[in-house]
Amino acid sequence: MSQDALLLVEGLKVIFPTDAGIIKAVEGIDLAIHPGECLALVGESGCGKSVSSLAILGLLGTPPALVRAQTIRFDGQNLQALNEQQMAQIRGKDIAMIFQDALTALNPVMSIGRQLDEVFLKHCGMNKSQAKEASIEALRAVGVSSPAQRYRQFPHQLSGGMRQRVLIAMAFAASPKLIIADEPTTALDVTIQMQVLEELRAMQRKSGTALMLITHDLSVVNYLADRILVMYSGKIVETGPVKQILKRPAHPYTEGLLTSVPRLDTCNTRFYQIPDQVPNPMNKPSGCHFHPRCSYAGELCKQTMPSLRSLSPQREVRCHFPLQKGEGGDSQHA
Ligand code: SF4
Repeated sequence: MSQDALLLVEGLKVIFPTDAGIIKAVEGIDLAIHPGECLALVGESGCGKSVSSLAILGLLGTPPALVRAQTIRFDGQNLQALNEQQMAQIRGKDIAMIFQDALTALNPVMSIGRQLDEVFLKHCGMNKSQAKEASIEALRAVGVSSPAQRYRQFPHQLSGGMRQRVLIAMAFAASPKLIIADEPTTALDVTIQMQVLEELRAMQRKSGTALMLITHDLSVVNYLADRILVMYSGKIVETGPVKQILKRPAHPYTEGLLTSVPRLDTCNTRFYQIPDQVPNPMNKPSGCHFHPRCSYAGELCKQTMPSLRSLSPQREVRCHFPLQKGEGGDSQHA
């Protein structure tokens, strides 16, 4: 793990003890994000992506969650040693979040302008008139039309795409060092998604802010991210540079996710889907958690959890039999 990382997480575990049993949501993940970098956390719903980000930000109620980690270090500070007031200061100022559903994330009874003003008033030391000016400029910067008029409107008066742009404006308002974007375009129409992604990428490149992107959408990953971290059933199963992994996945789960992406350039009338579902976190399979869904599984996979091992200086995979893409695109065991 890189010691010059902006965010360094080592050995993060999140469990939820319940009357019915223990839910192991995250089973010891390591990650590092460097200044200006975009890291994508990828996987199906229930793999532990969002829970990991909420745990890092101290946004999980403890109890019911139990959060343990060897290291959660952000910009040189040990986040586990900070109290709630200190964490609240970091959230919004140094680390901001963009949530999936803007209508839920925004306060329905406050105007867009007042909600944006709050960021500038609270974190940037501005007075009211400075905050208003900065808010209108922030709306303009993310492509909101007629920003002075939108400033006075309420969330329900804006389209879904406009509301998502407002969330992006709020996230970048205090010039944070890191933004965590949880499925930032999933709730939008496909045509609007691209516009919002372009805005997000332009803002990130211009500001040099690091981005942790949480998504199941590999086309979004391909467009925005530098590195990818694939999670399955609470564990990291593959990491590496986006271009390499999307071209030559080494883990059967990553290959399955890629094959599941609908394509317009083939005549196939049937979509591929990974069989079955993500396992119940209270009752995970023995050995490799992916083995009941994996077409490459052998006896060893049913008995022994593979360790995360290095394939190259930049790539790691958790698989007993990592794939090697043939010249023709066919997968083979290593
Ligand atoms: Fe499939 Fe075995 Fe690799 Fe797990 S360890 S992904 S079951 S081949």
